[in-house]
Amino acid sequence: MFFYVFIAVFVFSWLFEFVLSAVNTNYAVSPKRTIPDVLKDDISQDDFEKSKKYMKDKSKVSDIYEIIAFFLNLFFIIYFLPFTEKFVSGISENVIVQTLLFFGIFALISAVAELPFSYYITFSVENKYGFNKSTKKTFFGDLFKKIILSVIFGGIMISVVVKAVESFDNWWIYVSVIIIAFQFIASWLYPVLIMPLFNKFSPLENENLKEKLVKIAKASGFDISKIYVMDASKRTGHSNAFFTGFGKSKKIVLYDTLLSQHSDEEIEAIFAHEAGHYKMKHILKSMVFSVILMIIIIFTVYFITESDVLNSFGISKIYSKLAYAFIFVSAVFSFVDYFLNFISRKHEFEADNYSKKFVDPEYLIKALKVLNKINLSNINPHPFYAALNYSHPTITERIKNLKR
Ligand SMILES: [Zn+2]
Repeated sequence: MFFYVFIAVFVFSWLFEFVLSAVNTNYAVSPKRTIPDVLKDDISQDDFEKSKKYMKDKSKVSDIYEIIAFFLNLFFIIYFLPFTEKFVSGISENVIVQTLLFFGIFALISAVAELPFSYYITFSVENKYGFNKSTKKTFFGDLFKKIILSVIFGGIMISVVVKAVESFDNWWIYVSVIIIAFQFIASWLYPVLIMPLFNKFSPLENENLKEKLVKIAKASGFDISKIYVMDASKRTGHSNAFFTGFGKSKKIVLYDTLLSQHSDEEIEAIFAHEAGHYKMKHILKSMVFSVILMIIIIFTVYFITESDVLNSFGISKIYSKLAYAFIFVSAVFSFVDYFLNFISRKHEFEADNYSKKFVDPEYLIKALKVLNKINLSNINPHPFYAALNYSHPTITERIKNLKR
């Protein structure tokens, strides 16, 4: 019985997202859409048509990928998980070795299935619209580094978790502590250890701009005098700025693409927005929320694996039970993302308002328009899609808010 509930939940959560995304694309690229009034003077009809074409091209590729991934996962659930359990049990007696092989096989198949799509997106779609700056050498170099990192960190974490599950009765408590500790270590190590593996960081040289940014950072409680420029342009034309890490690993990073695309005043405005996220503890708040959510998820996984609902699935080992329980719980909890996006949009408005304390809002509006134009962003998302899936308010909403 539970098997059919499982399949139904999995299919429904996938189908809901898939249909919603199709509705959004059709809505945005429809000939009925026009340029919103607030953007009339900034976006040419040519650019508008180009942004629609970009969206069509991208969604075609992602639709095909989503469909293939869906059937692949369904095949895993119905047949391949029990098969793999038997296969790895025949190779080693040791549960940790079995676990690593088991998850390694699934990670490998998923990665191989995804590779042609990310390659095509990067070198065909992104290239066609002038976004891709990556070479094949960088692309495969990144892939190699990511594989090594996931083998090391993923391998250690999965081994520790399975050991805890085997050793304790109320293992959900221990696993929660382990995963939270892992996350803290990861977000501490990320700016100092992981990021430098992929990019070069050099100090910001524009002294005049630096002085202004440091002033905003200090006034916002981010007591740091070094601002780094990251060589994002070796991969992409998209741009960003962020505050990252904590304690000694704290870092402020600007993409070099940001410096080449915006005036000093616009960069100041974007920076003041990022400082607002820091000052209003948005990062901390979302971290606390995701920790609570994670504990609930781990407890639910615990509840399912300790009950007998998975008995009819043709498996007996703890790692396959964990895999099934996790797939089910992820599908059930996928709706929580919609709520997280709602909170995130609220935070974006707050950060926009915070930036007004330091910089005339006209500059942030200008910066948003430039970003929108450069990124060929969709300016007409379907309202229902945006309400569920957008982590940022739409550009028209943000401009209206900034003008208030
Ligand atoms: Zn923001």
